[in-house]
Amino acid sequence: ADFALFRAKEHKVGQAIEFSAHHAESLMREAVVHQALKKADLDKELRLVFQPIVNSTDGQITRCEALARWDSPELGSVPPMEFVGIAEKMGMTQQLTRVVVRQALEYLRDCPELPSLSVNLSAQDIISRETSDALVAMILAEPEHVRHRLVLEVTESSLLNDMEEARYNLMKFRFMGLKIALDDFGTGYSSLRYLQDLEFDIVKIDRSFGAAINTAARGLGLVATIQHLCRSLSIECIIEGIETREQLETARSAGCRLVQGYLYSAPLSAGDLHAYLIGEKRFPTYRQLLEDGTRD
Ligand code: C2E
Ligand code: MG
Ligand code: MG
Ligand code: MG
Repeated sequence: ADFALFRAKEHKVGQAIEFSAHHAESLMREAVVHQALKKADLDKELRLVFQPIVNSTDGQITRCEALARWDSPELGSVPPMEFVGIAEKMGMTQQLTRVVVRQALEYLRDCPELPSLSVNLSAQDIISRETSDALVAMILAEPEHVRHRLVLEVTESSLLNDMEEARYNLMKFRFMGLKIALDDFGTGYSSLRYLQDLEFDIVKIDRSFGAAINTAARGLGLVATIQHLCRSLSIECIIEGIETREQLETARSAGCRLVQGYLYSAPLSAGDLHAYLIGEKRFPTYRQLLEDGTRD
């Protein structure tokens, strides 16, 4: 057995070296981001971009998602896929989330035309009494017409650790008039009990389903089933990651109307979003999109 292992190692040795070099590099990068994040003045260095969620039937913006961008003076722009995970490991998501929520509330205040804005919460935020109480205080300081347009997005995996605590904290937000969205649905356990017990207002079907909707017949079946399930529970359903007209067409045949994805828009700056909100710019309806598609 030892001999076989040795042979296996021999064959893989090039690969192993490559792997460990890659691994070392990513550990080093993580340490660098960690250090920069520790020193960061998030109030100044963090900004939000806004991705519209469009009703494809009439081209109207029904909601919007706020996504964090970190412009580090040392590292330049660091994507959230990188820094959010590191902030979680460092236990500094409360700080991050407070900045994000503060900026989101500011935007809602400045922009009465915006029907709804969602922010992403980290797993730790939802199970931390301290964080949720800090957020409650910030949100309660806002008038109703501002805070009722704020939506909190949580992921399935963040509910796993402490479902009871999550339920308790989410309930506080719901009492204040906020809506709660289950993000990246379909990537975790997709437990139907979550939908029932935690009374989500909105489900966002993960973008991997949006992307696969045309390539796999089962993908379409799954999306149609989730859509149907949501409808029967009176949960609003949004499909993420729609990049092409074909995907939109298929998503619509599965019953999806509300879409978020590059086909309509990448995340926008506050100013660019505003142009849509005041009607200076418009998103096409589904029909218009398909007509354009047949022309080219
Ligand atoms: P998410 O909450 O699922 O956000 C959607 C992500 O998908 C965004 O990436 C968005 O730019 C991207 N996206 C939208 N449409 C398309 C599409 O058609 N195709 C493709 N390929 N991608 C699309 P982004 O902004 O890089 O954020 C990545 C993730 O980082 C988010 O996933 C969320 O989990 C996390 N994140 C972002 N901002 C925050 C934040 O303020 N707080 C926390 N805790 N997490 C955040
Ligand atoms: Mg999200
Ligand atoms: Mg998502
Ligand atoms: Mg995600």
